[in-house]
Amino acid sequence: LVGYTKTQFALNTGAEIPAIGFGTWQDKEAQEDAVAEALRLGYRHIDTARIYGTEPGVAKAVNKSGIPRSDIFITTKLWNNSHHPDDVEKACDASLKDLQTDYLDLYLMHWPSPFARGDKMMPKKDDKIIPGDSDYVDTYKAMEKLVASGKCRAIGVSNFSKAELERLLKETSIVPAVHQFEMHPYLSQPDFAAFHKSKGIHITQYSPFGNQNEIYDKGKNMGKLIDDPALTDIGRKYGKSGAQVALAWGITNGHSAVIPKSKTPARIKANFEGDFKLDAEDVKKVDALDKKMRFNDPSETFRWNFYADLDGKN
Ligand code: NDP
Repeated sequence: LVGYTKTQFALNTGAEIPAIGFGTWQDKEAQEDAVAEALRLGYRHIDTARIYGTEPGVAKAVNKSGIPRSDIFITTKLWNNSHHPDDVEKACDASLKDLQTDYLDLYLMHWPSPFARGDKMMPKKDDKIIPGDSDYVDTYKAMEKLVASGKCRAIGVSNFSKAELERLLKETSIVPAVHQFEMHPYLSQPDFAAFHKSKGIHITQYSPFGNQNEIYDKGKNMGKLIDDPALTDIGRKYGKSGAQVALAWGITNGHSAVIPKSKTPARIKANFEGDFKLDAEDVKKVDALDKKMRFNDPSETFRWNFYADLDGKN
């Protein structure tokens, strides 16, 4: 991207994705200002999703920034209630409208699990989710049409297991450009990462700070990943924090466009400075921190056995 001087990774479409993206999940009201600040500091990769409700805020921040649309990489995600092949284009159109743009750089299927069709995105508290009967392969085939029509420059998936990804590769024509899933030094999944590399699928890590996010119950009673003494020790060598080392670890492994969201300006700036490379010996030290600990697994709520064949299955 023009004007973006930090690391970018090539996707299998030929497009480039900036290594550090800005996530917009949670704190919906704070996101417009946070995205504006991120753009001002040089971020050019914004990650939103239909379910986050942050697409309109992202659009406002992008418009106000004066940065040309073509210089910003925008990802959004198809929500589970729109998996029916007849609903996919409508859902994409709604996202395009809220984002005030006529194309997406990347459209991801947020989860492989369908919910019942309809306007209800999430059941009310205590209501059970009603699973839908769409097959993610058919959903993905409907997404492929959005590439053909030019509405999406690239498509991909999120939160898939290896078996689900293998089936998708076998039964569809477009190799996903990106797979976005939870990955951090406590859940490093080296074999799964190698599998992506062999298929030309770029990995975007989410929750790169592991159990930093207050919403994750699992991991509440242990120390924060970003305060892990191994990370802070390595950081001393480079004049960086533990959080920045966690980001650099992903970038050095080359399989990540990591997404540290924050509504705190100082952290937004610091996270952007996590774009640097670690020496091989330090990558090894971070690899050794793996605890196979996954913090985000909504299998019970979504009524789907996520990550069944992967490390860190809860
Ligand atoms: P993170 O690991 O990025 O943690 C974010 C939390 O860390 C926030 O509470 C933020 O708080 C805090 N934080 C950010 N920077 C720092 C820092 N330098 N030092 C200390 N604390 C910091 O995880 P998330 O789980 O929020 O994931 C990030 C993004 O990934 C989301 O916004 C979303 O875009 C994407 N995502 C995608 C998912 C998917 O299913 N595809 C699932 C989960 C996330 P504060 O704002 O107060 O600074």
